[in-house]
Amino acid sequence: MPIEQLSETLIDQIAAGEVVERPASVVKELVENSLDAGARRIEIVTAGGGKSLLRITDDGHGIPEAELPLAVRRHCTSKLAGGLDAIASLGFRGEALPSIGSVARLSLRSRAAGADGAHEILVQGGRTEGPRPAALGQGTVIEVRDLFHAVPARLKFLKSDRAESSAITEVVRRIAVAFPGVRFELAGEDRSPTILEAVAPGREIDRVAQVLGADFTDNSFALDAAREGVRLTGHAGLPTFHRGNALHQFAYVNGRPVRDKMILSAIRGAYADAMARDRHPVCVLFLDLDPRDVDVNVHPAKADVRFRDPGLVRGLVVGSIRAAMANLALRGSTEGAG
Ligand code: ADP
Ligand code: MG
Repeated sequence: MPIEQLSETLIDQIAAGEVVERPASVVKELVENSLDAGARRIEIVTAGGGKSLLRITDDGHGIPEAELPLAVRRHCTSKLAGGLDAIASLGFRGEALPSIGSVARLSLRSRAAGADGAHEILVQGGRTEGPRPAALGQGTVIEVRDLFHAVPARLKFLKSDRAESSAITEVVRRIAVAFPGVRFELAGEDRSPTILEAVAPGREIDRVAQVLGADFTDNSFALDAAREGVRLTGHAGLPTFHRGNALHQFAYVNGRPVRDKMILSAIRGAYADAMARDRHPVCVLFLDLDPRDVDVNVHPAKADVRFRDPGLVRGLVVGSIRAAMANLALRGSTEGAG
């Protein structure tokens, strides 16, 4: 067979294989888009574990009519003006919407701030319809129906509606911790509703309590340390507060939820002497550093990062948690003595 250029739709479907693994990854991409648009309220509705329907409604700055066709075209983004070295947004690859549009029925309804009215664009099997006038007060509504109907092989690998639903909940919980000023509502016929009310500035710990429970905030210590331009803040559970798996360890790099092996191993190291090997600590760690010292463009799903100086970050995490624990032990023993 001769070498041929792939069709746009096939290219998008190939990208979709990496960007949208399951309904929860679609939710992650769409919620990230809402947050990048400055939304203060985000509503997520699911049906059939997100396979039959996902609807994300936000009150962000919206998309102007003229840009709607670009929003669903690959490699089109409003977020990379500063280049790859200065990524300030959650998204930047311009891949999510076209990928989703290539494997599902996608509809995008939006009213840009200051625009007279709303417009809608539909994408199905890579074909675009619109934009045409639609009704919407403000912000953006994105609907994804029949996810993966176009790629039955992927559909077969999805888990039960219940498992997919709970993966969606998990994604929303993780991202919500990094955006305490935003109200999140997760609802649908296939779940009991979760509402995370926005918390006031300075009360970020309330969001941690909403997501991880007040028993965690009651049984944890605050972290605030810095070393060579890297700052670590957040909350780490007491060694007596542990879980059977590591799913309760939330880590963020410059506000982006990450699942980073090095950070997870640093957490394990910090607690190694204080906890049984088969138990896992609970913690919420925010690492903030110069965007030039960390590469977030490692994987299409953007959950992996590469630090320029991983040893520095590891040392900061292990050192701060150990120091805080030693401090507590010291205070405990002097209190006990006094
Ligand atoms: P990326 O987020 O990497 O730019 P996406 O495919 O996720 O790529 O989105 C493409 C573009 O569509 C974004 O750059 C943004 O301009 C616009 N967009 C997507 N979702 C929203 C939203 N909820 N509100 C406002 N603009 C949006
Ligand atoms: Mg995006």
